[in-house]
Amino acid sequence: MELKLDFSILKTLTELPGISGRENAVRRYLKEILSPYADSVRTDAMGNLIVFKKGTSSKNLLFCAHMDEVGLMIHHIDERGFLRFVTVGGIDPRTLLAQRVRVQTKNGPLLGVIGTKPAHITTEADRAKAVGVKDLCIDLGLPAQQVLATVEPGDFAVLDRSYEEFGDGMVCAKALDNRAGVFVLAELVKAIQKPFYNVYAVFTVQEEVGLRGATTAAFGIEADVALCLDTTGAADIPGCAPQDYITALGKGVGITALDARTITHPVLFETLKTICDKCAIRRQIRIAPRGGNDAGAVHLSKTGVPTCGLSIPTRNIHSNVEIVCKADVEQTFRLAYEAAQNGMENLTL
Ligand SMILES: [Zn+2]
Repeated sequence: MELKLDFSILKTLTELPGISGRENAVRRYLKEILSPYADSVRTDAMGNLIVFKKGTSSKNLLFCAHMDEVGLMIHHIDERGFLRFVTVGGIDPRTLLAQRVRVQTKNGPLLGVIGTKPAHITTEADRAKAVGVKDLCIDLGLPAQQVLATVEPGDFAVLDRSYEEFGDGMVCAKALDNRAGVFVLAELVKAIQKPFYNVYAVFTVQEEVGLRGATTAAFGIEADVALCLDTTGAADIPGCAPQDYITALGKGVGITALDARTITHPVLFETLKTICDKCAIRRQIRIAPRGGNDAGAVHLSKTGVPTCGLSIPTRNIHSNVEIVCKADVEQTFRLAYEAAQNGMENLTL
């Protein structure tokens, strides 16, 4: 198979706003680009986008990739027009200092700045203190009256950062978790032709707040087997020990053995490793005792579905400077493609 992923689609995907519960812009874009390749496309009550592609057998393979990203929700506007917020999904408040956001208002997005007291007016003791979300606010640069007329509690604020390719085949952007997985699944829908499995490519909602979309999507599909495409932490940075890396950039697709929510079915685990070895797909084993993804919900649906998480290693995950390696994205695509096309024909679970 000739491998040619169109990374301009990943760029577009990362630039769209899509905090948990507000994935509509991502869903609309995917529906538009994937409808020509699908046998059917529908959106369920939760907002999951379900793209179906008919296979040559009667077996069903469910793919999940969550559309949502972590972000902020405005919950208070003070008398001077500064915005206080809560986090949606897991964000370390230290990563929000001195950052820009786009507040999604009824009149469209507004640029906001999360400021920080400059060094000139802080003491060493101030700077040593932990930063909490309660210490932070968004400055819209507008008079209070104008802010009150435009922004309401419940509005979302998306992290703001452009997509950049840099270094040795790296991408830095916001929302690579999980637009990188969404990108792989979108490219898969386009690429597969007469696959062995009936493929349900489900772009899920609200993963970051508790695997909520995947829970209902999996309930509505009679899946024989499932693969969940997501990013995972790559802690291969100074200050972390090699045994704590979880995954490392450039070492290929992460095949999950165990995370906080799943232990992969042994036959499925071995089959995926064998596909990689046969097709010269670079792989690493993901063991993440503190992480989880849609696979946690999917494998417990109905009477149980053998499920494996296929993970794209990501540095600085859940910040606006997430980094993935393009080669890892390609290896993840190749494994997903081979598995759907005919690599799991003889899978007996
Ligand atoms: Zn994720």
